Amino acid sequence: MAVSTMQELFVEELRDLYHAEKQLTKALPKMAKAASDDQLRQAFTQHLEETRTQVERLEAVFELLDVAKRAKRCEAMEGLIQEGREMIEEVGDGAVLDVGLITAAQKIEHYEIAGYGSVVALAKALGHENAAQRLAETLEEEKAADEKLNEIAESSVNQKALSQSNGSEMDEASGAEDDEAEKGHMAQTAGGRATSRRGPSGGSRSQSRRA
Ligand code: FE
Ligand code: FE
Ligand code: ZN
Ligand code: FE
Repeated sequence: MAVSTMQELFVEELRDLYHAEKQLTKALPKMAKAASDDQLRQAFTQHLEETRTQVERLEAVFELLDVAKRAKRCEAMEGLIQEGREMIEEVGDGAVLDVGLITAAQKIEHYEIAGYGSVVALAKALGHENAAQRLAETLEEEKAADEKLNEIAESSVNQKALSQSNGSEMDEASGAEDDEAEKGHMAQTAGGRATSRRGPSGGSRSQSRRA
């Protein structure tokens, strides 16, 4: 369908998110299963429940707008989920995989934050107050899910992954001093990789303001 109005664009974006969320209801159980850390597994399981609610919320919004509940293929989410799948295949089990799962999951959450930020703004611009409210609930859940992943990474999983990595490199290390230097370097690397709060979150905030 050719899109020419704001309203049509809004509905197309909702259909894209509808497909994205539906895919996530299938992907999240696999991510939960692959996680070693209890907190992380629980976070994925809890977000799966929220995601099912988000699917229903989108269906309610289609009803409010009196348009067909139709999904439009979201290739971006397909790609992000594929990257998560590769993470599970390529990274060995344990804390390092947990860090990888958090990395993949935060890319997913940030995509959703951008998507919902835009549809909330579009709904408001079009005067669909009720729809805007429902979509804003989901937006807050996505932000909370992202923040939860930051907390899990910073409070435990990054550290566990560092210990695991240092443990396996201990055999090859030639001396205690080298080992200390290596630890310091790796602490920076894992922290930067798993905690993306400042950069991308700021980006999604300005995205929702602009849209
Ligand atoms: Fe979602
Ligand atoms: Fe999409
Ligand atoms: Zn990517
Ligand atoms: Fe989400």
